[in-house]
Amino acid sequence: MKEIAVLGSTGSIGTQTLDIVRQHTGKVKVKALASSKFSQKLKEQIEEFRPKYVYVHHYETIPKELIKKYDLIFLTGEEGLLHITDLFVDLYVVGIAGIAGILPTYYILEHKKNLATANKEAIICLGEILKKQYKKIIPIDSEHSAIFQSLKGEKTKNIKKIVLTASGGPFLNLPIESFKDVSVEEALQHPKWKMGEKVTIDSATLMNKGLEIIEAHYLFDTPYSHIDVLIHPQSLVHGMVEYIDGTIISNISVPDMKIPITYAISYPDRWETDVPSVDFKNLHKIEFFEPDYQKFPLLKLAKEVGIKGEAYPIVLTVADELAVNRFLSQKITFDKIPVLIQKVIERANFGKPKKLEDIIQIMEETQEIFKQVEKEVF
Ligand code: MN
Repeated sequence: MKEIAVLGSTGSIGTQTLDIVRQHTGKVKVKALASSKFSQKLKEQIEEFRPKYVYVHHYETIPKELIKKYDLIFLTGEEGLLHITDLFVDLYVVGIAGIAGILPTYYILEHKKNLATANKEAIICLGEILKKQYKKIIPIDSEHSAIFQSLKGEKTKNIKKIVLTASGGPFLNLPIESFKDVSVEEALQHPKWKMGEKVTIDSATLMNKGLEIIEAHYLFDTPYSHIDVLIHPQSLVHGMVEYIDGTIISNISVPDMKIPITYAISYPDRWETDVPSVDFKNLHKIEFFEPDYQKFPLLKLAKEVGIKGEAYPIVLTVADELAVNRFLSQKITFDKIPVLIQKVIERANFGKPKKLEDIIQIMEETQEIFKQVEKEVF
C-alpha cells in the first residue's frame, strides 16, 4: 500500500489524483491533504479519504468539529507547512497552481521526500539552488512525463535533442490583430486539455510551453540548445527524445492528465486507467510544425530568459502570474500580457540566487517592478 500526501487537493490536478486513488483502493491511500483554504470540497475530501493530516493556509476557516470527528492532525501556517512537508509518506503529489507551490516544494525537497509534481513554477524558480535534487522528481506535466518515460534506462550523455510538443492553444489560427479582442472565456477554452485557469491562459499565450522549456532544462539537466518545441495540434505525441544514434523514443497517448498522474503514483509500476486507446486507423492527420514566434513572443522570450539564467526565470514566472491574473480579472487585454512581461524582464537586475531567501526577495522585488510598469503602461 502506497501512502501519499496530496498538496493542492482541491485543484484540477489534486481532484484528478483523488479520482485515481478512488479507482485504485487497495494500492494507494491518502495520508495527508493540503489546500490553500477550507472549502466544501476539502470537507468532502476529508470525509471520503480520511487523511490523518490536513493542512490549510487559514486556520480560522476550519470547523473544530471536523477535526474532532475525524481525529485529524490539523496543521497551518509556517510551522504547519514544515510539518506537512516532513511526513512519513511514500510520495508527495503536488498539484498546487502557480508560485504558491514554491515554498512547499522547497521544503519537500529539503526534507528529502519523494516528489511527483505538476508545479512547473516551483521547478523553475528553485532550479538554480535545488536542481541537484531534481533527479528523483517524477514530473506530472504531460510533456515532462513523456520525456521522463522516454529517458528511462538511457544515459543523459546520449541525448541529442529533447522535443516538447504544444497543441498551439485556442488561438493557433487566430490572426494576431484579433488578440486584443480575446475574451477571458475564449482564452479559457483549451482545445485539447482540461486544466486549471492559470495554465490554460499560459497555453493560450504559449508561455506555458516557454515555461516548460525552462522546466525541462532544470529537470533533465539538458542545455537549452538541445531543447526544441514543435506545434502538434492533435496532442497525441507528448514528447520525444532523440539520441545520438538517430533513434527517437517518444510517448504517445490520448491527451488526458489521468495518464501522467497515474504514472507518477504507480511508478515504477503501471496501473490501469479508463483512457481510451489512440485510434491510429482513424487518424486523418498528424501534424508537426514550427511555432510562430512573432505571434507568440513569450515562447521566444522564455527561451532567452532561460539561457540568461540567474534570476531571470524567477522574474519571468512571477511577472507572468501577475499578468495572467490581471487578464483574468479583466484589468488588461490579452495582447498586453506579453507587453507587460517583456518590460518587467527589461528592468530586472538581480544576481544569481544562492538560497531560498534570495528567491523570496527576487519575487517580492519583481512584484514591485510589475506594479511600476503597470502604472506606466496604463
Ligand atoms: Mn504541459
